[in-house]
Amino acid sequence: RQKGKDSCIPPKSVSLKDIGGMEDIVDHLARLTVVPLVQPQVYQHIGVQPRHGILLHGPPGCGKTLLVNAIAGEFRLVFFNVSAHSIKVGRSGEPEKKIKRLFEEAQKKAPCLIFVDEIDALTQKRDNMGEGIEGRLVTQMISCMEDLTSEKTAEKHIIIIGATNQPESLDPAFRRAGMFDREIRLNMPDEAAREKILKVVCEGLRLARDLDFKELAKKTHGFVGRDLSALAQFASVEATRRFYKFKAIETPSVTGEPSAGTSVARLGDLA
Ligand code: ATP
Repeated sequence: RQKGKDSCIPPKSVSLKDIGGMEDIVDHLARLTVVPLVQPQVYQHIGVQPRHGILLHGPPGCGKTLLVNAIAGEFRLVFFNVSAHSIKVGRSGEPEKKIKRLFEEAQKKAPCLIFVDEIDALTQKRDNMGEGIEGRLVTQMISCMEDLTSEKTAEKHIIIIGATNQPESLDPAFRRAGMFDREIRLNMPDEAAREKILKVVCEGLRLARDLDFKELAKKTHGFVGRDLSALAQFASVEATRRFYKFKAIETPSVTGEPSAGTSVARLGDLA
């Protein structure tokens, strides 16, 4: 089993409990992916072909990668996690081969989920591209995705999720029926969602007794999940600094826990 990026198993440590504030989206995406991959008989029973392509878009740091990893991890899906930029590097002709190989591998391991982060690097509009690398990548991607549509075995279903911050930069061919014909938009989290995300990213941290998540959610307007996670990390580091200062200067002999109020950074002060 391979590990890390571009591997075909889900990251064990990530699951749905690691996501805050996007219940409806989790539900929607899980329905579009888990049912066709894990219970293909549902589609067979109804007599409908499940879709192959899903486009996730939204601002940077709003949780697109986390969401897909968590669904793959939670439901233990066979999972190919690739970055479009890692496909794009290489000598002339190599990137197209990598795309082809990815889909061939997926076919061998189907039913499975392919996730391509920053898909726009492989699917840009073809105007003025000529025969350059970008144009060839688009042609290769289209050809591989069309092959998926011609695959009629429900038990061997393959779903490809592409994530991007720039959906408008995709060639229109990718947004027609049979390609990325399902689109899910992740928006900036509102106050209620920020409160839930904060609770998730602070899970396991020793918190000040008076920490008010509601208040902190109010103060963090414009923060996406990545910012909230960074805030919690920053506060944790601050907390260790205060703790050591406290030990060294005020009570050099202390062996137990730091007293309440010194052990935790004030997340509210840092927001
Ligand atoms: P980019 O477009 O830059 O690739 P992204 O939308 O894929 O960003 P992620 O990489 O999924 O964003 O998020 C970055 C980190 O922010 C996550 O690893 C996680 O720690 C945190 N995060 C983002 N959204 C959430 C959320 N809804 N709940 C909990 N943590 C979140």
